[in-house]
Amino acid sequence: MFAQLAFRCRCTLWLSAIGILLLLGGCAEEPSTLERVQAEGVLRVITRNSPATYFQDRNGETGFEYELVKRFADDWGLELQIETADNLDELFASLNRPNGPVLAAAGLVASDGRKQVARFSAPYLQVEPQVIYRDGQRRPTRPEDLIGKRILVLKGSSHAEQLKALKMQLPDLAYEESSAVEVVDLLRMVDEGQIDLTLVDSNELAMNQVYFPNVRVAFDFGDSQNLAWAVAPGEDTSLLDEINTFINRAHENGSLQRLKKRYYGHVDMLGYVGAYTFAKHLQQRLPRYEKDFRLAGQKQGIDWRLLAAMGYQESLWQPTATSKTGVRGLMMLTLRTAQAMGVSDRLDPKQSIAGGAKYIAQVKSQLPDSIQEPDRTWFALAAYNVGGGHLEDARKLTKAEGLDPNKWLDVQKILPRLSQKQWYSKTRYGYARGGEPVHFVRNIRRYYDILTWVTQPQLEGSQVTVNNLHVPGVNKVPQQDDMPPL
Ligand code: GLU
Repeated sequence: MFAQLAFRCRCTLWLSAIGILLLLGGCAEEPSTLERVQAEGVLRVITRNSPATYFQDRNGETGFEYELVKRFADDWGLELQIETADNLDELFASLNRPNGPVLAAAGLVASDGRKQVARFSAPYLQVEPQVIYRDGQRRPTRPEDLIGKRILVLKGSSHAEQLKALKMQLPDLAYEESSAVEVVDLLRMVDEGQIDLTLVDSNELAMNQVYFPNVRVAFDFGDSQNLAWAVAPGEDTSLLDEINTFINRAHENGSLQRLKKRYYGHVDMLGYVGAYTFAKHLQQRLPRYEKDFRLAGQKQGIDWRLLAAMGYQESLWQPTATSKTGVRGLMMLTLRTAQAMGVSDRLDPKQSIAGGAKYIAQVKSQLPDSIQEPDRTWFALAAYNVGGGHLEDARKLTKAEGLDPNKWLDVQKILPRLSQKQWYSKTRYGYARGGEPVHFVRNIRRYYDILTWVTQPQLEGSQVTVNNLHVPGVNKVPQQDDMPPL
C-alpha cells in the first residue's frame, strides 16, 4: 500500500516536471506564421494587378483572387492588405522578404519548378495552358508548329517554364519573355498581329475572349494544371493548413463554383464562337448605336446596357432584322407595339431603340409593387417577351406550388408549364411558349453582365484599350466619367 502510494507520488512528480519542461520549451518557441498573423490582425497578400486577379473598379477593389482571399481574411477577422508585384519573379521573391507578404494569391500554376521556391495550397481551379493564335493565320496544332514563330509569354510564368522544357527537346524553338506585360497585353498583341503566338491559362482567356475577336485557341499545351495560393517554403504549415481547410470548404459549399462562374463564365455562357462573335459585334456594331441606347436609357430611367443587351438578343444589333412572325428592327418590335410607342419606321434604329426603351419602361411600371429589384427587371423582360397576362398566370401557378411569385428564380421554373395543357388549361390567358421568356431573360442577363463588365471604368492598371474598349483592371489613368464610352 505504502509502496504503491510512493510510486504514484513519484509518477506525479515526474509528470509535473515533464509538464513544466514542455511549457518552458513551448514558451521559448517562435510563434507560428498563423499566430503572427493573428497577433498582428493583418493578412498581407501579394498578387498581380490584372482582371483575373485584382483590380479596382468604381466600387473599389475586386477580382477573383481578391474576392477569395478577402473571404479567407474575413473568416479569421483579419484586415486584408494587398500588394501587387510587377512580375512573377518579384512576386515569389517577396514571399521570402522579412516582414513581407505571407501569401501569394495570383492565379498561380502550382508547377513543379515553383515547388522549390514556394509551398502551394490545395488547388482552387483547374486550368488548361493554351497556345493562342490569330484567326486567319495557319493554326498550329502541335508543339513542333511553334518553331519559327514570334512567341511572347510572361516572364517567370508557368508557360515560360513549359517552353523552356520544350526547348530542351526542340532546340530550334525560340520565344521571348517579358515582365513589362500582363496577360491582356499578350492577347491584344496576338489579336493585333504584333506577335504570332502566346501561351495563357484557359481561365484568363475565358475572361478576356469577349474583348479580342481575332484571338483563337490553337491547342492545349500539355496537361491541365492546378491554380493554388503560395506561401514561403519551410516547415511551418500553420497558415497553409487553415487555407486548405478554407479552400476545401469553398469547394464543398459551392461558393468557389459561384465565383468561377461570375469571373470566368462568359465563355461557358456564350461558347467560344459566341464569345468572339460577341466581341466582333461589340467592336463593329455597338459603337453605331451606343449613343441612342444611352439617350433612350436616360429618358426612360433604364440602364442603357440593359437596353443594349436586349438589342443584341433581339437582332444582334442589326437595324434591318426581320422575322417571319412580323417583328422588325433592331429591337424587334411588333407593328402594334411600334404604333403604340409612336414608332413610325421600325427599321430606323433610333426609333426602334427609343420605342423598345419606352415599352420596357412601361411594362416594368405595370408590374405589381410586390416585385422588387433586381427581380423586377427580369420580370419586366419576361413580360416584354411573353406578355403581362401570361406572366401573371405563371406567378399564380408559382404561388400555388408554394414558391415565391415575386422571385424570378421561382417563377422561371414554372413558366415552361404554360405550354403544357394540364397546366395552361387552368390559367386565364391559356397557352404560351413559356420556355421562351426563360431563355430570353437568361440570354439578356448574360449580355448585360458582359456589357457591364466591359464598360467598367477602371482606376488602375496599364493603359490597354481595344478600340476604346476598357479592359477591366488594365487602365492606369483614373477615369472622371464613371461610364467611359465603348
Ligand atoms: N497562371 C500563370 C502562371 O502561373 C500566369 C497567368 C497566365 O499566364 O495565364 O504563371
